[in-house]
Amino acid sequence: MAQTSGSRIVEETTLESGHLEHLAARIETSDDRSSLEVRTPVTDEAIGAIPACTRDDVAGAVERARSAQNNWEQVTVDERAAIIQRFGDLVLKRREELLDVVQLETGKARHHAVEEILDVPLTCSYYAANGPSILADADRSGAIPLASDATVTYDPVGVVGVISPWNYPLTLAMTDAIPALLAGNAVVCKPDERTPFIALALADLLAAAGLPDGLFQIVTGEGATVGPALIDEVDYVAFTGGTETGRTVAEQAGRNLIDCSLELGGKNPMVVLADADPETAARGAVKGAFTNAGQLCLAPERIYVDDRRYDEFVDAFVGATRRLELGLEFDYGPDIGSLIDGDHLRAVQEYVDDAVADGASLLSGGRARPDVGPFCYEPTILTNVDPDSRVACEETFGPVVSVYPVSGVDEAIERANDTEYGLNASVWTPDRERGRAVAREIDCGTVCVNDPYTVGWAATDAPMGGFGDSGLGRRHGPEGLRRYVDARTIATSRIGPLDAPSGVSPRWFAHFMLGLTKVQRRLTRWLP
Ligand code: NDP
Repeated sequence: MAQTSGSRIVEETTLESGHLEHLAARIETSDDRSSLEVRTPVTDEAIGAIPACTRDDVAGAVERARSAQNNWEQVTVDERAAIIQRFGDLVLKRREELLDVVQLETGKARHHAVEEILDVPLTCSYYAANGPSILADADRSGAIPLASDATVTYDPVGVVGVISPWNYPLTLAMTDAIPALLAGNAVVCKPDERTPFIALALADLLAAAGLPDGLFQIVTGEGATVGPALIDEVDYVAFTGGTETGRTVAEQAGRNLIDCSLELGGKNPMVVLADADPETAARGAVKGAFTNAGQLCLAPERIYVDDRRYDEFVDAFVGATRRLELGLEFDYGPDIGSLIDGDHLRAVQEYVDDAVADGASLLSGGRARPDVGPFCYEPTILTNVDPDSRVACEETFGPVVSVYPVSGVDEAIERANDTEYGLNASVWTPDRERGRAVAREIDCGTVCVNDPYTVGWAATDAPMGGFGDSGLGRRHGPEGLRRYVDARTIATSRIGPLDAPSGVSPRWFAHFMLGLTKVQRRLTRWLP
């Protein structure tokens, strides 16, 4: 395996020499495997290598996970929660090293990487505090009051496969793994091949927190090989990534009759109402559209502004955007970092070039900045965008946003909903009740009022996921935990079989049961 972590760029971080090799050694393969180079977008140089796992390696990882899970499900939920809490503490304690790895792998600005650090301990404490009650046996109404009862128990599904993308490699490797582990499952995680080291660093910290061996494993390699191999072995798959890959994951999960959650792409609208403060909305637009250089599934890519506020909003938004500083430092200086790689940079540039060729106007940005970094791209604002153009309809996943004037709230809602996606939206108005009323009209899994995405994402008690092409299932909240358990109903009868007692005619029993059903229906209407 290439010994490249002594490369110049790694020396600029606080990481100890050999740290990335140490992390790569966590990946178990049954034989020598070809290796995949991992490059940093900061300088486009190699920083390490990982094995290209095969089907056999994936099967081996799942087998080890399955054997560890047998003991883990016997451990009390409170004990599991304590380990998860210790892990959250370690993430905070070792944050500088984790931030360096995130920045090395993604090229994002440090203050954007911090959002990932903040997220994981919060998710740990939410599930550690609430998991035991969410997973506790629950008494439900029986078939016949007093004569029977019902109890629901929740058993872990077994081994959960987590397939995660490169854009938030720390958060998205862990946010689905934490509740899976807490519910008594083992996890085998397949991170994006461009960002494997942060997932490996988290595996190290889980072990340091006391998670028994084998319960959290990493398999690395190309998604098209390792992903399907993983889905064939596990009992549930939690996938985060693009919509087209999500469809193939869902097809395979369907064939294998396993459940899955799919957190996919978006074309997120932001709606600025006539009474909104243009400065506040512009600050929100900058944060939403350009966090992580726009490589954020929740980022607004379409902004609909009431035409009475349009000019003021555009002035404030363009002004604030032009003040943003692009840069690549392992420190808190620059506002925006790099795109992930050259292919993505070319794709983003093509979206902008096509839009401009179709008549769009560039109000800010619109060009690559190789003088700052090999894959840096200026934050870009477009207007006069053809509503049928690619940039208007497809997810750009870069620092590119289009602004449209609208004649009022009805048009804003109609245009916000004119998409196959439905991940995240935001509404801007000082009248929060009105904002919430408008939010109900927008077809998205999360709608934030007066914030672009953070209040929705960070509400870990509330479910998060997509409508339409943005996905299936929910992470966060009780929903995000219950997806990883099989519900079993145990129903008991105090009067023996619910059938006609001996000596009672079927006709009499049928009339008795019909009468009882009527009484029960009345009672359920009257009783609270
Ligand atoms: P991809 O769908 O290409 O990749 C996501 C993950 O799936 C990677 O680990 C990839 O591996 C793996 N993969 C690739 N092919 C397969 C396959 N056939 N079966 C199983 N797994 C496979 O996504 P992107 O890299 O394009 O990530 C960006 C996308 O993710 C955007 O659309 C974004 O909106 C979405 N996203 C959604 C979020 C949400 O919460 N809704 C959050 C963040 C991102 P590899 O790359 O190593 O080949």
